[in-house]
Amino acid sequence: MPYYDYRCAECGAIFEVRASIKEKEAGLNLECAQCHSGEVRQVITAGLVLHGSSGDSVPLCGCGPNAGPGCCG
Ligand SMILES: [Zn+2]
Repeated sequence: MPYYDYRCAECGAIFEVRASIKEKEAGLNLECAQCHSGEVRQVITAGLVLHGSSGDSVPLCGCGPNAGPGCCG
């Protein structure tokens, strides 16, 4: 069963939640393990970054997608 990381918007606590895909799709009714706030948000870890948010291969140097050769050193 997969794990999901959630972060409490109130106290900042991060906790793991175990749920099946079906359970997650149905909507998890979560609360913070520390302060019992319902204001929890899923933490998207680096390995699960979704595609399509910022183009294909923009250089990290900040030159932009149409920069010529030599821009980035
Ligand atoms: Zn909390």
